[in-house]
Amino acid sequence: MSIRILLIEDDRELGKALRNSLSTEGHSVLTAASLSEARALLDNQATGQPFDLYLLDLGLPDGDGKLFLEMARRVSTAPVIVISARPHDDSKIELLDAGADDYLVKPFSVGELLARIRVALRHRGNLAQAATLVYQRDGLNIDLVKREITLNGADVKLTPTEYELLARLVRSAGQAVSHRQLLADVWGPEFLEHTQYTRLYVGQLRAKIEINPADPHFILTETGVGYRMLAVA
Ligand code: CA
Repeated sequence: MSIRILLIEDDRELGKALRNSLSTEGHSVLTAASLSEARALLDNQATGQPFDLYLLDLGLPDGDGKLFLEMARRVSTAPVIVISARPHDDSKIELLDAGADDYLVKPFSVGELLARIRVALRHRGNLAQAATLVYQRDGLNIDLVKREITLNGADVKLTPTEYELLARLVRSAGQAVSHRQLLADVWGPEFLEHTQYTRLYVGQLRAKIEINPADPHFILTETGVGYRMLAVA
């Protein structure tokens, strides 16, 4: 699959290396080295071909990349993957809440970036047909249409809340989902501060679907952020 990518990165060497790798994969890449360049390209896409994905550095010479995230979210549903040198959990959570699809902390390998791009695109594709989503991986089968879950052929019985939480993670399989997103989507916006709920219910889910709940294989912890359902292979 060949897609149009807008790469926003002011480090020229890194920008060039990423551009080369992505072009080798068959993607067409436009590069912006500042917030203003990125904004101009975002405005121009209205008259040309839209971008399929954005790769966004945060530390830009004329402002914070987060400002671009807000602009992009107003005009596009294409995935935004943040590529940043900032490892802090706070900024990761803020970015996911602001509509970023994923983040990669520098330095990262090209292989990891390509994998995250595939997941982000698949996730966007799934959103349109989430009702038919079926998760199959390593003996775990989750059918969100039939509301059926089996582990190695045996039925898994979940409470309604456990099911909603698992379904939310499955719809975003391969991507980190923040505690706040989970609380808002499963319990409702008035529960945003009750982060103990996600821990409690993820614990219950792990007891039912993990072979070893203490060393989870399917529902992975994103420390300080939230949880990530193992991507479908
Ligand atoms: Ca930078």
